[in-house]
Amino acid sequence: MINQIYIENEIKNHPRVHDILKKFKGKPPIYIDKYASIFNRKNQNFRIQKKYPSLILAQKKAGYVLKAPEDFGIGNSYNFYFSHMYNCLYDCEYCFLQGMYSSADYILFVNFEDFEEGIKDKISFLKNEKVTFFSGYDCDSLAFEKISGFVRYFLPIFKKFPNVDIELRTKSIQMDPLISMAPISNCIVAFSLMPTEMAKKIDHKAPSIEKRINMISKLASMGWKIGLRFDPLIYGENWKNLYINLFDNVFKNIDKKVIHSITLGPLRFPKAMFKKIKSMNPRSKLLSDSLTLRGNKISYSNDIELEMQSFCIELLKQYSPETLFFSCKGNF
Ligand code: SF4
Repeated sequence: MINQIYIENEIKNHPRVHDILKKFKGKPPIYIDKYASIFNRKNQNFRIQKKYPSLILAQKKAGYVLKAPEDFGIGNSYNFYFSHMYNCLYDCEYCFLQGMYSSADYILFVNFEDFEEGIKDKISFLKNEKVTFFSGYDCDSLAFEKISGFVRYFLPIFKKFPNVDIELRTKSIQMDPLISMAPISNCIVAFSLMPTEMAKKIDHKAPSIEKRINMISKLASMGWKIGLRFDPLIYGENWKNLYINLFDNVFKNIDKKVIHSITLGPLRFPKAMFKKIKSMNPRSKLLSDSLTLRGNKISYSNDIELEMQSFCIELLKQYSPETLFFSCKGNF
């Protein structure tokens, strides 16, 4: 799974680095001064690296907690995100990370303590406000958990601040830390979903929709709050029936009381990023079909986007109150 391990000299004695290295016995690491010397090398091929990614253990130096874009939220007034990792085990065809980074290597920032401080600063500054922290934008929140221990570290911290929310966004079914602890009332486990037939074609390497729904059902029965993220909405042949089946399948398997929020988001790419993503996936039907330039974004036409949004909202209203619906158009 991991080609080579690189470690920044500055954090080579960090206890988290030692713990991670124990999981890769027989793989001698290479020590480097700065992660950028590997991650930002010129002439890298994202697609080839995706097959043999390396793991870079690094120290984040600044920007631990960032403001989420406008039009991005699940009901609270203040929204922040934080990224302990860049890149992802999965390989979704629409993933913006392919356009954002020139490398498919995984960077794991091991100085969780600095992120913790950044989070606590924001909480203390906004102490009487409603705040959501999002994780899982530059990676999947849980897919790398066995190696990173990210959720195991951060959930007990958020548990101490029940007035703020933490969203863990994922396609993973690797839920050990959650299954072995009692639900935390301010944690939302948010699963990205799309119809099975579509996911089989474009959510490469990610767990199947059936497995994700089974895991949602399990967590829901334990009392974890669940977020449903239909983002991006994918257009294609028979899309209406596919979404009817998806919603039916999801809601018959979940106790509706534990649904915290439902997000719908259109398929969208910043113009410059799209060119790069398409050039790396020249045979992608998703990236060739029905997409058009609208302002500085590439997306479906306004008509398709509105039709999909309103069709899905009407369906979802049969299962859940509209107060739980949020639209997401933000791009990081
Ligand atoms: S799960 Fe998310 S971060 Fe990972 S490849 Fe898919 S879209 Fe990208």
